[in-house]
Amino acid sequence: MPLVSMRQLLDEAAKKNYGVGAFNVNDMEQIQAIMEAASETKSPVIIQASRGARAYSQDKYLYHLMLAANELYPEIPLVMHLDHGNSVETCKSAIELGFTSVMMDGSLMADGKTPSSFDYNVQVTREVVEMAHAKGVTVEGEIGVLGGIEDGHGAGGTGLEHVTDPDQAVEFVAKTGVDALALAIGTSHGAYKFSKKPDGSVLKMERLIEIHRRLPGVHLVMHGSSSVPKSLQDVINKYGGKLKETWGVPVEEIQLGIRNGVRKINVDTDNRLAMTGAIRKVFVETPEKFDPRDYLKPAREAMKKVVAERMTQFGQAGHAGDYQPLSLDEMARCYAR
Ligand SMILES: [Zn+2]
Repeated sequence: MPLVSMRQLLDEAAKKNYGVGAFNVNDMEQIQAIMEAASETKSPVIIQASRGARAYSQDKYLYHLMLAANELYPEIPLVMHLDHGNSVETCKSAIELGFTSVMMDGSLMADGKTPSSFDYNVQVTREVVEMAHAKGVTVEGEIGVLGGIEDGHGAGGTGLEHVTDPDQAVEFVAKTGVDALALAIGTSHGAYKFSKKPDGSVLKMERLIEIHRRLPGVHLVMHGSSSVPKSLQDVINKYGGKLKETWGVPVEEIQLGIRNGVRKINVDTDNRLAMTGAIRKVFVETPEKFDPRDYLKPAREAMKKVVAERMTQFGQAGHAGDYQPLSLDEMARCYAR
């Protein structure tokens, strides 16, 4: 099975009311961890790479690792998605490389920091949709501005400065034709999301529910949705780390989102925490070891465990074999109709 369109994956998720985790990668071990988790739980999967990841791993390494994943697990529908494309040019280069889905984040200017105007966002996103759909590639847009910084991308702040306006979301979708829409509802990137367990006054779930009611055909995306469990923080701190106490997005809130149109959930921090904790443990408990495999293997295993758990919690587990993936050419024909 070739790399598949995210649109089809999310359409299938919508039919059966489940969510799909989108996990970030920079290297081989992370791709392996996700594929092992997907294979174990029989899950369709979205693997995403940011601009930072593409620079770190170099496009060609990344692409060929994804092809290897695809070849090794032909039974798993696999999407390769660009996370937070900052310009039309970045999205174009991803499509040319072979990504089957791209995010054009026009909520910020190309510097990835400065909030943009609505008109700018519509214009760049529309341009990417035209280019991508002609090739059968999916497009995720963003309306409202997320908090925190992820790979140098984000406006900073708490994420409550620019919560998505439902009227703007409706207008944005009508003007751009995006397949999926990232919303700002108070989540933010990175580990330090909330200083206490977030309740309804922090996470604007009622806003999300309202947007889904008005845009039932659009797949909603939750960014910055690591749960940052205390158990993962504790491992890091037990073995010499210095994380400050912090809270992420509770899984119950994500599940509430999934019941209300959320189809893609971005998770990165939880995997970073799991890997770092596992590596620290090896370093502290067996300081005589120096073979990278001695710590990368437990790191990969720790990430696999988190990913498999999220796949089960989001409901995608068991759905890998539900449908026959369409080729990007077939998707392009669907868009043309
Ligand atoms: Zn994000």
